[in-house]
Amino acid sequence: MAQKGKIQKKVKRPLIKLICTECKQRYYHTRKNPTNTPDRINHLKFCKICRKRTPHKETK
Ligand SMILES: [Zn+2]
Repeated sequence: MAQKGKIQKKVKRPLIKLICTECKQRYYHTRKNPTNTPDRINHLKFCKICRKRTPHKETK
């Protein structure tokens, strides 16, 4: 009987700020797994300032 060993990996998930690409305001924070999504993420989110859904991109 093979014993299943649980491998606990400490995955660093940095906090990512999402800014609206139209008004450049920071509004959302998210976390992503850098190994799963190495590319820059682009989320369509509702912006309070633009009052519409705008693409939010990550910033540092
Ligand atoms: Zn905006």
